[in-house]
Amino acid sequence: MSRLFTSRFSSLEPYVPGEQPKNTEYIKLNTNENPYPPSEKAVLRAREAAENLELYSDPDCTALCAKLAETFGVEADEVIAGNGSDEILNFAFSSYCDENTPAVFADITYGFYTVFAQINRVPFRIVPLGSDFRLNPSDYFNAGGTVFIANPNAPTSLALTRDEIEDIIKNNQGNTVVIDEAYVDFGGESCIPLIKKYDNLIVTRTFSKSRSMAGARLGFGIACKELIKDMNTVRFSTNPYNINSMTMAAGIGALCDEEYTKANIEKVKKTREFTASELRKLGFEVPDSKTNFVFIRHDRISGEDFYIKMKESGFLIRHFSLDIIKDYNRVTIGTDEQMVKFIAAARRLTEEL
Ligand code: PMP
Repeated sequence: MSRLFTSRFSSLEPYVPGEQPKNTEYIKLNTNENPYPPSEKAVLRAREAAENLELYSDPDCTALCAKLAETFGVEADEVIAGNGSDEILNFAFSSYCDENTPAVFADITYGFYTVFAQINRVPFRIVPLGSDFRLNPSDYFNAGGTVFIANPNAPTSLALTRDEIEDIIKNNQGNTVVIDEAYVDFGGESCIPLIKKYDNLIVTRTFSKSRSMAGARLGFGIACKELIKDMNTVRFSTNPYNINSMTMAAGIGALCDEEYTKANIEKVKKTREFTASELRKLGFEVPDSKTNFVFIRHDRISGEDFYIKMKESGFLIRHFSLDIIKDYNRVTIGTDEQMVKFIAAARRLTEEL
């Protein structure tokens, strides 16, 4: 830290993203990216947009929001686009939390929520998950703050049903409820249809996972138009051109190719089921995943040792030092070929134990 850094942020602990190695030495299963490339339509449109970079991008994201609205059965003014869903989450922290309105979220969930609370200088209240990492909906009733729930949750890979989330929304009429659906396409139930019924619900989504566009940085939020207007006030006050023209075009291209997305999701889900069943045969505990990753532990090896040994064998996975989950690793589902290699390496390791 320099001697000039503002004291407001002197104790800020930034989010630590998963490693992004520059070489191809590793099979990379650590940041929940999609192993398949984006739709050719997305690539083509991005390339076309690259011809016109002398102009600013459309600050209203008109064409993209119209396409998102059509795809998800909502109105264009019920949509906001973000530089990744991280940015939408940050807009929600800025718009709906303050010194009297804490952010409320689980102890084991997306690690960025704590950082968003800190950078926005708002208090937060942590709600412990129940046994087996299950989130108990009634723990969030009348939360006394803005609720943030990743559904499906990360890194646990477990999901609540739409009815369970609806109970949380109903029981928080005075509070905003933000449902982070980054992984919903891999097996969760989306709450987007509920935005027509509830004016306190925001659903955030991303192109990073099911649409294979993590590098493009594109996410969006869906909510009633008043909530979208609030978040646009924050967006226009920070970065009105938050989505670059190439990304906007790529997003529209991807949405014009939903068959491709669906096929990729099915491939990932099939590989996930195969991976989970093979790992269980090796003695791993693998909760039923609704995401593009599995959260695993083995009685006979610590989470950290498994992470280190797999890294030595050429696989990058994600280990979290947080005490309650330190026995686990989060493993992104790659291609069949990658997962067969991963399972073989895990088998060799377990046989040596
Ligand atoms: N929510 C959750 C639960 C995530 O795991 C991630 C990915 N790190 C995000 C949101 C943000 O994704 P992105 O900014 O790439 O849309």
